[in-house]
Amino acid sequence: MRLVVATNFDDELVEKIHQYPVKYMYGSQTETLTGHGRASFILPKVDDERLKSHIELLHSYKIKFLYTMNTANLYGKEYSEKFHEDLKKEVDKLVNFGVDGFIVALPFLIYFIKREYPDIEVSVSSFARITHIRKVEEYLKMGVNTVIMDEDTNRNFSLLEQSAKLAKKYNADIEVITNNTCLWGCPYKLTHDQVTSYASAKDGIKGIWYEFPVLFCATEVRNDFANIIRMRWIRPEDLHYYEEIGIDRFKIAGRNKKTDWLVNVVKAYSERKYEGNLLDILSYVQGRATTSALRKINSSSQYEILMKIYVDNNAFPPNWLSYFKYNRCEERSCEDCKYCDIIAEKTIRVEGELPRDKIRPPIELIPRFREDGKNKQ
Ligand code: SF4
Repeated sequence: MRLVVATNFDDELVEKIHQYPVKYMYGSQTETLTGHGRASFILPKVDDERLKSHIELLHSYKIKFLYTMNTANLYGKEYSEKFHEDLKKEVDKLVNFGVDGFIVALPFLIYFIKREYPDIEVSVSSFARITHIRKVEEYLKMGVNTVIMDEDTNRNFSLLEQSAKLAKKYNADIEVITNNTCLWGCPYKLTHDQVTSYASAKDGIKGIWYEFPVLFCATEVRNDFANIIRMRWIRPEDLHYYEEIGIDRFKIAGRNKKTDWLVNVVKAYSERKYEGNLLDILSYVQGRATTSALRKINSSSQYEILMKIYVDNNAFPPNWLSYFKYNRCEERSCEDCKYCDIIAEKTIRVEGELPRDKIRPPIELIPRFREDGKNKQ
């Protein structure tokens, strides 16, 4: 098992997890030239000194550091010579600081980094939304060392197995993300990737404090709790399904999380076991981030139920994941299948009264998720 773990740049985190099979940690400075995969307002401030000394500490434990430059869009800056110069300076600076590799989502950035530093490791990010074998092949041909699959593929075992075989031919790895809670087949993902990229770039949008696409997926979870089971997280107990098909590189997300939270998650995946509410080790932005944002504008009443959900990790039937080896979710409607509804019945408990009605996302609230909109009614 090789864990690739998000860092919050707290050195205590490294001290507490280095004894686990952590081979890489990853992260970035807060607002960057390119933008990246987490909105800057949810991340700690990381200046050059903090970045450098954190990397030194990681290296003292033989943990490599990957820098996330995984914006989903450069908004046409590729046409600017000045941007090329600035990007070169940025990459040079990071390599001098000891960065061991980069996580990027755009072919332009893969070609740029590999041109400047042919031997440096490059992972293609989940933001490249790699969902079939041809895309895996194309990125391997570009020279990436690791392909991080879109979470949507996490239960498509035939695709993962073939991708792992293909990657091996290129001396590369396939990586899967363990603990994100994007909806299965999320229709809001492309918008969210763009908003996040824009909200983490130096020249991006300013003054916002909540990523509005999360309100959409939170609404879907609030309307149907079985959506939690449909999400493509991987339980610590189920990692062996991936190892059996040649994938042993597991990413743990949570760059915006506190140290104790990350330690708990790394421990659970390293020990392949978690007793308690599965949501405690998943990103679960639909619950925590959404209710707290809506509370700030006194509009959380329809969403408070999301904080009362308990997914009993002990209640999953043994081999429950085997079903996905034979069921093609890509080609079958969940309404016909209902497997995830059955698993939800067995595993999900909710404190309090269940919502009777289905609601639509309150899009009129979006302008209030800005600094100047918080107190407007
Ligand atoms: S098709 Fe069935 S198993 Fe697949 S996500 Fe939908 S309900 Fe779950």
